[in-house]
Amino acid sequence: MLLKIDIQPPKLFNSLHDLIRMAFPGYELREGRYRAEDDYLALTLSELGEQVLFSGYISIKGKVTEERESYPLSLDGFDLSPQMKSRARIFIFRLLCKHLDRNFNAYGILTGVRPVKIVHRLLDEGWDVDSIVAKLVKVYLLTPEKADLLIGVANANRPFLLSAAKAQKQVSIYIGIPFCPSRCYYCSFPGAVLRDYKRDISPFLEALLKEMNVIGDYIERSGLSVQTVYLGGGTPTVLNKTDLARIFDVLHCKYISGATVEVTVEAGRPDTLSLSKLELLKQAGVDRVCINPQTMNDDTLRLIGRNHDSRSVDQAVGWARSAGIKHINMDLIVGLPGENAGHLESTAARVLDLKPDNVTVHTLAVKRGSTMAETEGRSNILDRVAEVEQGVSFLAQIFTQHGYSPYYLYRQKYMQASMENLGYAQDDGFCIYNIQMIEERQTIIALGGGASSKFVNAADWSLTSFHNPKDPNSYIQTLDRLIARKVDKLRALN
Ligand code: SF4
Repeated sequence: MLLKIDIQPPKLFNSLHDLIRMAFPGYELREGRYRAEDDYLALTLSELGEQVLFSGYISIKGKVTEERESYPLSLDGFDLSPQMKSRARIFIFRLLCKHLDRNFNAYGILTGVRPVKIVHRLLDEGWDVDSIVAKLVKVYLLTPEKADLLIGVANANRPFLLSAAKAQKQVSIYIGIPFCPSRCYYCSFPGAVLRDYKRDISPFLEALLKEMNVIGDYIERSGLSVQTVYLGGGTPTVLNKTDLARIFDVLHCKYISGATVEVTVEAGRPDTLSLSKLELLKQAGVDRVCINPQTMNDDTLRLIGRNHDSRSVDQAVGWARSAGIKHINMDLIVGLPGENAGHLESTAARVLDLKPDNVTVHTLAVKRGSTMAETEGRSNILDRVAEVEQGVSFLAQIFTQHGYSPYYLYRQKYMQASMENLGYAQDDGFCIYNIQMIEERQTIIALGGGASSKFVNAADWSLTSFHNPKDPNSYIQTLDRLIARKVDKLRALN
């Protein structure tokens, strides 16, 4: 389905595209003049005396919605200032809601990945909570419930944010292992499905260890300390015990110190785990593993391409406990194909029985490049708005009743019902790496395949990013160049 977009002045389109895309996820958006028979959205800004007039028009499958509003011109006359762009976003948001007869984004005109950062910025500037809520609701047009949620999350994780002085000296480390035992149906991560251990892993591991050694030397020389370490992927536990031990040898030699408070391994797929592997991780200092069922319904697990059933999740959690690993994170997804309220209820009950410290509730995002998007089409899946919203609030209710509270939050493009991914934890169960990664107040040095580093300038909390290639072969081939560039970025911080 094609939706023609005619925005005057045209350069305003970039400021509005994300909202229109969110309102009409099934449509291809194309800029240009429309013909009468097209489905189209038009917005024109024109000068009218001392006013600027916004005229909006949507015509889709015979349904027409129109809106006009005028605002005083700024002293500088008609320009595309940030203020004017913000007015245009508010105008288009209201026009889209009116056309759809519903609020398509409970976060109003906010479409970014990290909305809690706005709350932290305002708290830094000395705003009180009531004024922040008023700004979120009246200026950004969030629903009061989402405004309260953002405040709650910010209050929960603010004690973990670093001061500017600490942020110059303390970093976290991410190690990316871009291999999985099979590809999940909804996954767009272009990492490799592990087919031949020796052929696939050996060259990748040598490259990773080289990067770890060189960057580790730099960290030692520059006096940085490591607060948290996170092995993610992919699924790092596809590695055998010998190779995991080699990674931890370098981590202990060059990264982990008395200042390190958390070491996490994403052991997402139970089919990659054994008691002895978890015992090795415990001996290597791992105090948190993520065992991610997504759902505890076996039919769904089969459908989404995971090579394990729910009993193997129970078993993996049992092994982690017997190995003595203190904290367990678990991920769930709301909106999986074929799942209804009953499925969520049984999943929640079984997960609560396992007593994880952290549960992250994801809303299914239908990402380009996933098997799901290719076979089912994005719009069909994104259609289950009410059902997904009910599922998310059911889980919020049940986890808060059981003593979990939300402490980190992020959003993704193409999420069902334009919701959020929300991490819940009990009091001492917060995963500090999750907070640092989402709130972006700490430099994350990321090594390995598909690993994205973030270099934080503590003077103004601005960021620069650096991405290692996701494809293991490209990572290996460009290793020396990317190490040099990463060291250069680290030098610029000091
Ligand atoms: S385990 Fe994670 S990274 Fe691997 S295929 Fe599944 S969703 Fe993708």
